[in-house]
Amino acid sequence: MLKKLKIKYLLAFLLAAIATVMSIMLGHVWMTADAENQPQILSQSSSAETSFKTGSLQNAGLQMQEVGQGIYALVASTDFPPVSPAVAICNGGIVIGSEGVLVIDPFQTTELAELMISTVKSLTDKPIKYVLNTHYHFDHTGGNAAFVKREIPVLGRGVIRDYIQSGKNNTGGVTPPTVIINSQTDLWLGDRQVRIERVDGHSAGTDLVAYVPDAKVLFSGDMVFNNRIPYTGDSDIRQWQGSLYRLIAVYSGAKVVPGHGDVTDVTGLQAQQAYFSWLERLALDWKGQILSKDQVLEKFAKVPDTYKDYKFKGLYSTNLESAYEQFTRSATIPFIP
Ligand SMILES: [Zn+2]
Repeated sequence: MLKKLKIKYLLAFLLAAIATVMSIMLGHVWMTADAENQPQILSQSSSAETSFKTGSLQNAGLQMQEVGQGIYALVASTDFPPVSPAVAICNGGIVIGSEGVLVIDPFQTTELAELMISTVKSLTDKPIKYVLNTHYHFDHTGGNAAFVKREIPVLGRGVIRDYIQSGKNNTGGVTPPTVIINSQTDLWLGDRQVRIERVDGHSAGTDLVAYVPDAKVLFSGDMVFNNRIPYTGDSDIRQWQGSLYRLIAVYSGAKVVPGHGDVTDVTGLQAQQAYFSWLERLALDWKGQILSKDQVLEKFAKVPDTYKDYKFKGLYSTNLESAYEQFTRSATIPFIP
């Protein structure tokens, strides 16, 4: 299997090299090189790259839903990686109060952030007061520059500036948040309160959720990948599970806008929790059978039928690796309830 993969990569590399030479000869820029194998290309938002016009929500693959009075979710429908940088990868949020607006997760490029700004303008004449990064990943922070340029505070948690400034996980070139919050914080948009809370497990110390009490709407960031394979590249799955349990207990009656996938409610939180419980059980089985990581990656490469309709299947092997690293080598008592 690994040998096959190696050959595949060699072939892909050769083809890419030939294609590059040909495109140079033809005077073309090779815009859409094998995006599937190189998602990091999409993370960099240069204006040369996005000569595509984002223009409308529809072109960005976004659907706007009013999830509470004056509260909107911009729901991204793309698979990963998207067909072009003009297509939004994550969901965004807009919360309008009597004196201002909170924007949540301004997507992966400044062009998409500008689309967010024009969308806010189409909904209200109130100014954007704050932007929130639910965590540091590039698909949620790449648009920050559009707001920092306008001197609008961008809020993030903990080590988020360090991560972004060091270019961790494809965040090279991203503008970091300008305000760091480390504990529960209430934002007031005139008459409307938004509670920002810490959660853990998805992004190594930068996860936040936002809750609007008067409308019972929770923006969960990437604590929930609804009907999508989650990204676990820098996760701590047991911490993530712990946060999910708390969110399920505290926000059982809330509408939930996930980081990826359709708007949901407590059932979306529960589905995420069930997925990780299944993954942990699976990993404890591997441990029982004393399988090596390579054996696991080969034997369990196929996404099980239960999750066959999920998007982001390209992330599945990372889930296997994370589970292997975190559960088969650990001597601690399993979290499974
Ligand atoms: Zn993320």
